[in-house]
Amino acid sequence: MAGILYLVPTPIGNLEDITLRALRVLKEADVILAEDTRQSIKLLKHYEIDRPLVAYHMHNEHRSLQKFVDLLLAEKNVALISDAGTPGISDPGFLLVRECLRNQIIVNCLPGPTAFVPALVKSGLPSDSFSFEGFLPEKKGRHTLLTALAAEERTIIVYESPHRLLKSLQQFKTYFGGNRTLSVSRELSKIYEETVNGTIDELIVHFTQKPVKGEIVIVIEGAPKLSKKEMKERDLAQKIA
Ligand code: SAM
Repeated sequence: MAGILYLVPTPIGNLEDITLRALRVLKEADVILAEDTRQSIKLLKHYEIDRPLVAYHMHNEHRSLQKFVDLLLAEKNVALISDAGTPGISDPGFLLVRECLRNQIIVNCLPGPTAFVPALVKSGLPSDSFSFEGFLPEKKGRHTLLTALAAEERTIIVYESPHRLLKSLQQFKTYFGGNRTLSVSRELSKIYEETVNGTIDELIVHFTQKPVKGEIVIVIEGAPKLSKKEMKERDLAQKIA
């Protein structure tokens, strides 16, 4: 029997947001893989978890993959954590999960903190169907993606850094128009948590007057739903273009 790979979500700000199960799995793991060991050691110390800690991040995930698969095949239970939130969500995790599944290794992902869910739910925008985009590409592919997203009818969720927020909002105005409703949540679960809702135009004014720091999730209203006739006209216009 091989070991089990556990993906363990960790708090995105508030240390109380860790589950009892997450603590038990971490305490029982043979090895904990962490995105930034210096960062994770603070969390593990806080909860008196003393297990071997090994770095697993975007710079070594390709070359260290086989080493960790071999560890699991040698019946060791491995827990993967990232700096914050759920591993595999805009964080390393996907490659290891895929490799484990190829090797018939059991993969368990514990439910737990992730930034986009509270941001989506507090936005007041439809949460029944949405498109999570993570970080938008900074240059290559950005125009193509924003053009496609302009027609996306589901709610759109984007991770953003504070210093790029205003520039992104100005670009959203270009692609989506200034009237779309938008919600910016920052510092979720932390002392200075805040959510600002408004149209793109309103939020450009708001964040020009009041630049922000901290971690940010942007939730954008989807495009207005088109009738069949309008869809045909749009497709025709795209073909001609
Ligand atoms: N794995 C994480 C998750 O499950 O959400 C995401 C990691 S990604 C590298 C970091 C980004 O997530 C930040 O730049 C920000 O966009 C978002 N984020 C993380 N913590 C946040 C928080 N407390 N408040 C708002 N956004 C947050």
